[in-house]
Amino acid sequence: CGIVGYVGTNSSQDVLLGGLRRLEYRGYDSAGIAVVDGASDLASAKKAGKLQALVDELEAHPIADGGTGIGHTRWATHGGPTDGNAHPHLADGGKLALIHNGIIENFAELRAELESDGVAFTSETDSEVAAHLVAKSFRDTGDLTAAMQQAVQRLEGAFTLLVVHADQPGVVVGARRNSPLVVGLGDGENFMGSDVAAFVAHTQRALAIGQDEIATIRPDGVDVIHFDGTPATPSEFEVNWDA
Ligand code: GLU
Repeated sequence: CGIVGYVGTNSSQDVLLGGLRRLEYRGYDSAGIAVVDGASDLASAKKAGKLQALVDELEAHPIADGGTGIGHTRWATHGGPTDGNAHPHLADGGKLALIHNGIIENFAELRAELESDGVAFTSETDSEVAAHLVAKSFRDTGDLTAAMQQAVQRLEGAFTLLVVHADQPGVVVGARRNSPLVVGLGDGENFMGSDVAAFVAHTQRALAIGQDEIATIRPDGVDVIHFDGTPATPSEFEVNWDA
């Protein structure tokens, strides 16, 4: 339902939780974050209920912080509002984390295919297939943007996806079809969001990501391509909103 991503040198936990708080107005039933730290470890936490339940969980069981992260508030469509069905969904032995807004219409056949390849699922969501598809392509390509590009070819429906991998710190890759994604342009840091509320506290400069496009953010730059791999030219706009 609500999505935020961050790469930079600040605490991503603060940026993610602050972004999720500003996205609360959309409504949600669960929340979660994943962070890649300087030692290239991925840590995550997720809880059904209000954002405060996640904040309490992080206080009771702190996780590593770092400059790369993604955060999600979920409005359940497939699978009840439980801790296990909350996002992020992990794959690749816990090294990859993915969040999803929308509905993946062909998830049942993709899940059957992945399960017959030996992939073990831990949730009842439609979203988890996307995590395992990106993980599979990451093993082949070693690059998160290329992996996302391969994975989205298999997906039908509506999705905004954000993914991070422990082996590629300093990178968040997002993709969108029939569901919104915007990039926030910072100084030595960059952001993503399902809407500008996710990062309006940090920057007023934004890029509109078009239908069937993939955005890759690093602390020092942003690349946007179409699903077919050709370069895209997103338009920059100024957020007229007082943070
Ligand atoms: N369909 C996904 C789920 O049920 C994502 C829902 C959302 O957009 O929050 O987990």
